[in-house]
Amino acid sequence: MIAHPGSEVRVLIRSRPTANFAQELIEYLPDGQTVSVHQRKDSRKGVVNNQLSSWSFRLDGVLHDVSQEEVYGRVGRGVVLGALEGYNGTVMCFGQTGAGKTYTMTGATESYKQRGIIPRALQEVFREVEQRSDHAFSVHLSFLEIYNETLVDLLASVRGCPGVGPGGMAVVEEAGGGVSVRGLSLHPVHSEEAALNLLFEGEMNRIIGAHALNKHSSRSHCILTVHIESRSRTLSDAKYVTSKLNLVDLAGSERLGKTGVSFKVTSYLTFSHSWISSFHDKIPQFLPQAILALADRRRDHIPFRQTKLTHALKDSLGGNCNTVLVANIYGEASQIEETLSTLRFASRMKCV
Ligand code: ADP
Ligand code: MG
Repeated sequence: MIAHPGSEVRVLIRSRPTANFAQELIEYLPDGQTVSVHQRKDSRKGVVNNQLSSWSFRLDGVLHDVSQEEVYGRVGRGVVLGALEGYNGTVMCFGQTGAGKTYTMTGATESYKQRGIIPRALQEVFREVEQRSDHAFSVHLSFLEIYNETLVDLLASVRGCPGVGPGGMAVVEEAGGGVSVRGLSLHPVHSEEAALNLLFEGEMNRIIGAHALNKHSSRSHCILTVHIESRSRTLSDAKYVTSKLNLVDLAGSERLGKTGVSFKVTSYLTFSHSWISSFHDKIPQFLPQAILALADRRRDHIPFRQTKLTHALKDSLGGNCNTVLVANIYGEASQIEETLSTLRFASRMKCV
């Protein structure tokens, strides 16, 4: 069950349920891995034309009409168990606003059954920690928001929090090749309940902060990191093993439209595709830069720039890590352009 890290990135599609599912445009193939999208030719030019253009995307799985529990089993569990064994891991959702990223990561609060990957991962971490009595574990949480390249500590309000030192927050590289965020508070947690309280406090701070500063929370990335340290109790000379489990809810991938800088999606896609192919043999080292492109397509030069998001995740994507991406789509006819661009990106991430 433990996904031992390979260079492979797993990418799954999850579709948000809708009564207006565009079944004439989106087709899930029986293999459980392939989605075909059909689009009327020239539909954008207003030409009436019954011919269809079709695309097929084969990924690692399609989660259509699937419970939160099953999503956790297929997306989260392996990465969580890997992290308990000492492998860094990342689970990340991307897609347009409204497609179900937060539902997938955090879940809906209305019912226990609708808990998302994050609360289930926290439950599993503490269940395992309790069961593995031959190891001593220590678990810390941090909760980072990145909005417009600004780092925000969503847990700075927690009592006893040291506060940001002089110089503010910054992503820094450590001697051993790891990456950390200077000034980001780390909170020791000993139980699932304590972890959920921190999650809740962070979510509240995100909402309050967005409201106070008139930010659009769909434009920010959120990274909840579970820092795990363990040491064997049976071996006298046992070393400490550390790992990070990043649970990431990315900003909406849609264009900003009227309120933002407009940017042509098609040219962006061609651009990022050639960029990724040109680094084919250097991936997964360059995977972070590729991922940032899907998060913020407003700026054409972005794949070459080190952003805070990719920098903060540098030691936890690709390489000796477990990386699972969920491409969230909203299968209504009016959203077909966004669905197509999410799927295109998903399959590019698969190929890198
Ligand atoms: P995003 O974070 O991508 O903007 P949300 O997770 O907020 O999208 O989802 C938008 C709405 O759709 C929410 O009301 C959410 O509860 C609902 N939703 C999304 N995915 C599902 C799903 N798989 N099952 C039921 N409801 C969902
Ligand atoms: Mg959201």
